[in-house]
Amino acid sequence: MTNVTNSTRSPSGGKSIYCPHCNTRVTVYHFAWTALQCHQCLRTVNKPDWYLEAYVKPTMEQTQKYPELTWTKNEYHQLQVCLDALKNIRNREDRRHQMDEHLDPHTRDVLDEVISMLSDELDYDPTPNELGEPPITASEMHAAAWKEHQEMHR
Ligand SMILES: [Zn+2]
Repeated sequence: MTNVTNSTRSPSGGKSIYCPHCNTRVTVYHFAWTALQCHQCLRTVNKPDWYLEAYVKPTMEQTQKYPELTWTKNEYHQLQVCLDALKNIRNREDRRHQMDEHLDPHTRDVLDEVISMLSDELDYDPTPNELGEPPITASEMHAAAWKEHQEMHR
């Protein structure tokens, strides 16, 4: 998770920041403040405690710091639940014989695409990388694996 720092700047269209208590997105147009009240949970949150991206699952640290966290009500969590359901559909379909498949090929393509797009959006490592490297997305991971695979067969 990335927090707001003193070097965080807001582009002209505003910047989204996320309440560490309730994950609510707030748009700010400048950072000339030391604390801001969340309009959803009404807590006053100090600038360095605001997050720069929404969290899908709370980290261990967060659950200890905010035991009252109602993160299951957050739509990011609900999207994760949907993604898991879509993956289950795909897994069941993969186990079927070609003759017994439920989905027509076009529907299957759409399913694969939605899973891939949602995964890219939701699958990130919430724990900070020790080396400070940017988190790698699922599609980057797949691209790297594919490249490796191609190198092997050269
Ligand atoms: Zn809040």
